Amino acid sequence: MTNRVAITRVSAGDTEAAVREAVRLAGGFNEIIHSNSKVLIKPNQCKPMPRHSGFMTDGDVVEAVTKLVLELNPASVVIGDGAIAGWDFGGFSTQEAFDSSGVTEVARRLGVELRNLNTDPSEEVRVPNALVMDTVRIARTALTSDVIISVPVLKTSSRTHASLSFKNMKGVMPGAEKRKSHHLGLDMAIVDLCTAVRPHYAIIDATVGAQGLGQYPEDSIEMGLIVAGSDALYVDIVGASLMGIDPSQVMHFHYMGEREGKRAALDAVDMVGERLGDHRRVFATGFDAFRANYPEVNFVEDESACTGCTNELVSAISFMKKAGYGEHMTGLTVVIGTVTETEAKDKDKVVALGKCAARLPGAAAYIPGCPPKEAEMVRGIAKACRADAESVIAMMAEERKKVWDASSSVLER
Ligand code: SF4
Repeated sequence: MTNRVAITRVSAGDTEAAVREAVRLAGGFNEIIHSNSKVLIKPNQCKPMPRHSGFMTDGDVVEAVTKLVLELNPASVVIGDGAIAGWDFGGFSTQEAFDSSGVTEVARRLGVELRNLNTDPSEEVRVPNALVMDTVRIARTALTSDVIISVPVLKTSSRTHASLSFKNMKGVMPGAEKRKSHHLGLDMAIVDLCTAVRPHYAIIDATVGAQGLGQYPEDSIEMGLIVAGSDALYVDIVGASLMGIDPSQVMHFHYMGEREGKRAALDAVDMVGERLGDHRRVFATGFDAFRANYPEVNFVEDESACTGCTNELVSAISFMKKAGYGEHMTGLTVVIGTVTETEAKDKDKVVALGKCAARLPGAAAYIPGCPPKEAEMVRGIAKACRADAESVIAMMAEERKKVWDASSSVLER
């Protein structure tokens, strides 16, 4: 594993050439794939969407990666993923996702097995030095693979700003197990998951990216790039930077770096190929799009605000509204990061989130923790808005149970 990350450009529509060049510049597969290796290629097949929409890894990129792997004659090659089992929405069909991205056709053409990881046999594994998930259920295909190549698409996330190679690994958590990661705090759960099944190589399909809350087609962004490297942490840092996201604001990068003794920053990356600065764009993050839907709430943040707080906040605010407290939130100010003063109109309705905002004077509620727990956030916001927190928390639990029960049958498809 090295800190080298390559960016290549897709010229004249030749995706395969761009993938080959990116992997070559990043140091190739020779050190990780041997004749006895069992290889899992893990694209992002989260839900059925049109090709080249930026929401799923496209079949062209999966094909190029699979061909490169097959050229090394490993013992076995499987392409596998399990579609989303939503926290606040139902599940999707993995097979339909494979079909719509072109991956079913790629697997057939190359004679490689395609596996639905939602229905794969799974095992509960212990996570050493877990942050939030002492144990996690993982598809056996991932556990028995010697080499995992994470092949995400370049997109944002409403919860973690960037959904790249590490977050892509959620697909190896079968079915409703994926929800556990949201319930416990997504960023830290991603770190625990990737401690159990860390990708050995990462290749981002940055041909087309997706921003905001993922409305198609308006949120798709043409990029024409491939990003590759043997260390998913550095690959994801480059991917986030291409979307104009400050890597220091993505909490799971920070925790993964801490866990592995690495500096999770762009200047720690050995960049090769295309210059990042020539291709950097400003993607709206999912949180930006979420915030625009709540003009009645004033979100105040500085550059120290990270996804640990914004992730939980998205749920807390959404459920306050679902529980009928939308009007109560008018004039609410939520402070994230090391902000020490605000110009809130309604001083009684200021909520300070997490240890970063602990020094803000005069807030109606301080929510402890880093990140604070979702229920504590609801309690603090409800206190400032004079709402009944326990009814919101009860509704959250009830709704989630309903979705859990409903989607378990969907996930068997
Ligand atoms: S308190 Fe919140 S914003 Fe600050 S580091 Fe912790 S999770 Fe991030």
